[in-house]
Amino acid sequence: MSSDELLGGIAERVRGCEMCRLSQSRTHAVPGEGPSHAKIMFIGEGPGFHEDKQGRPFVGAAGQFLDELLASIQLRRQDVYITNLVKCRPPGNRDPRDDELDVCTSQYLEGQIEAINPKVIVTLGRFSMARYFPDARISQVHGQARPVGGRMVVPMYHPAAALHQPALRSEVESDFARLPEWIERADSLGESGPAAPESPEQLSLF
Ligand code: URA
Repeated sequence: MSSDELLGGIAERVRGCEMCRLSQSRTHAVPGEGPSHAKIMFIGEGPGFHEDKQGRPFVGAAGQFLDELLASIQLRRQDVYITNLVKCRPPGNRDPRDDELDVCTSQYLEGQIEAINPKVIVTLGRFSMARYFPDARISQVHGQARPVGGRMVVPMYHPAAALHQPALRSEVESDFARLPEWIERADSLGESGPAAPESPEQLSLF
């Protein structure tokens, strides 16, 4: 099956998913969007109000800021893949719970990563960072890429956090400015073929 077909199949399953309580309160599930050959994948936390209404990731204020950040490094939204840890909005934008994270990432996110096989994964916010670096503190590691399973993983502050705390805005902007460098480094990482599986030994390097 092609990666387009794999991604399409996952999106279809996400839209009909009833595997956790978040399905009961959602308007639309939000599988993610972008090209199946994207070199960069952004992983946010979960859909918010606007994403739930539209069924698309990062379309509210945080998404607008994300678009600006992408433009600052000459990228457009359609050049990258954007998704979330959980595909349905947690009610009132509460934090996703462990069981919701477990089922959604194992059923959908892992398959998306495998289908796209991105060179660089950018985690947006601490939940998404914790998937790769469970013991790290975002204030200490943001913007620093680490190799995980043949790709570069770059933890960044969530754009919504930067909107709420103006002091973080310039941090996010300078972290973004270094992304092209990480992409270049990632290009030389995985030249020997498909990425190796994400390995736990590599998860705590900070
Ligand atoms: N915040 C997220 O983490 N994801 C979205 O899609 C929108 C806001």
